[in-house]
Amino acid sequence: MAVHTQDRATRPAATDGTQRLSPALLQDEGLLFEVGNEHKCGVDLEALNEQPNRLGELARTSATGLAGLSEPETLRHYVRLSQRNYAIDLGLYPLGSCTMKHNPRLNEKMARLPGFADLHPLQPVSTVQGALGLMDELAHWLLRITGMNAVALSPKAGAQGEMCGMLCIRAAIDAKGELASRNRVLVPESAHGTNPATAAACGFVIDQIPANADGRVDMDAFQQKLGPDVAAIMLTNPNTCGLFEPDIKRIADLIHQHGGYFYCDGANLNAIMGKCRVRDLGVDAMHINLHKTFSTPHGGGGPGAGPTVLSNRLAKFAPVPFVTGDAGSSFGLVERGEQKGAADAFGRMCAFHGQMGMFVRALAYMMSHGGDGLRQVSEDAVLNANYLLARLQDVFSPAFCGTCMHEALFDDSFLDGTGVSTLDFSKALIDEGYHPMTMYFPLVVHGAMLVEPTETESLQSLDQFADAMLSLAQAAKDQDHDRFTQAPRTAPSLRLDETQAARHPILRWTANTE
Ligand SMILES: *Cc1c(COP(=O)(O)O)cnc(C)c1O
Repeated sequence: MAVHTQDRATRPAATDGTQRLSPALLQDEGLLFEVGNEHKCGVDLEALNEQPNRLGELARTSATGLAGLSEPETLRHYVRLSQRNYAIDLGLYPLGSCTMKHNPRLNEKMARLPGFADLHPLQPVSTVQGALGLMDELAHWLLRITGMNAVALSPKAGAQGEMCGMLCIRAAIDAKGELASRNRVLVPESAHGTNPATAAACGFVIDQIPANADGRVDMDAFQQKLGPDVAAIMLTNPNTCGLFEPDIKRIADLIHQHGGYFYCDGANLNAIMGKCRVRDLGVDAMHINLHKTFSTPHGGGGPGAGPTVLSNRLAKFAPVPFVTGDAGSSFGLVERGEQKGAADAFGRMCAFHGQMGMFVRALAYMMSHGGDGLRQVSEDAVLNANYLLARLQDVFSPAFCGTCMHEALFDDSFLDGTGVSTLDFSKALIDEGYHPMTMYFPLVVHGAMLVEPTETESLQSLDQFADAMLSLAQAAKDQDHDRFTQAPRTAPSLRLDETQAARHPILRWTANTE
């Protein structure tokens, strides 16, 4: 219970006037089990008639230990918890690599239409033609944006999309009879952690490619690693340093010449959609995070959606289920390997068809922006990141020279001699009213701070954020240590022991027996 029962009275008050929310509006909140108790029942149930026990030995002998709560108690519990979270609906959420952008309420309205929201995945296909039509339309947009040949809609997150793509690559290698000899996957050292994890989960051996001084793939090192045992390269573009990989076409050509495949991590499509087509970059497989690029909600466990687009070489290995037919006739669902068109499918990623609610939101987003609007999304995302870079670069230390794509990356050298670390700085940002930026990632940059504003921020909100960042940098230089080492001072939970929290997390609630 160490983490969430902080005594408010012991919390130091803000002294610098930065605290804008009254803590009085935020009451401490325990777990459901602590708020309620098992002797209470929230509903008015009729007393049971004495029934003979028909469970035999299976009948319960001890109490269930479930907390009983009334409706207002339950409601307050969840509303209080919700107020402890930072949210994109509260303010700029600069978490680099995560693309925390505004989710237009129109998307929500569409997703709640009963014809979409009340479907059951086991309904007969003839009764869900509209939903299949929507999936077909979404697939059409994703293929138009990327120029690719096929898309598997079912993966439920970016990481699962990676797995889908890598399993297609594995199936293609297997079909050529090369699985035993082609098992090495090249992954740049700046890659998102999910990339090597995916390759390993698919049974490949991982081989890291170092970054050069500009934060891009070191081409000499890459070329030396090519060989007949290379199955694929997994490359993010723009990469996790927020930079475009200018050699991407050469990388694709070289990997293809050596019989390997090009997996592109497309989580950052937000920065290039409508500007360059993934197909023209030589990509064989790429996942798209609908919950990043197309604004559907993410974080806090989801639900995300990671459709995976595939080139001609991989299309036939796509997993079931997939939608067939078109609006002219009727739509069908191919659900099993023995059905027409699915002979080479590698299997399936999940029980049903994917995250329907996210499909509706993403398509609503695409259709309300239109093709030109989506291109402008990319342009504005890059513009906003460069605006922040320009406002911060004289005080902060950009990790690399020049302009960035959709996110700006700083190292911690501007903090040299201040005694303040990237962690302290991030914690202090909480007291300024912001969720911290991504920190210590990518690993190739010392004390990294990765800031992604997204295109949905106004000039005013960018300036407000930049002002907060600059004032903190000044405070660090002025040796205002308390502001950092004691931060956060205004959050529901104060400074945690990060190491203890990571090494000894409390994952199980135990009743207080006193
Ligand atoms: C977010 C992200 C992923 C993983 O996506 P999830 O939906 O969180 O699984 C993979 N790669 C990159 C570069 C990302 O930014």
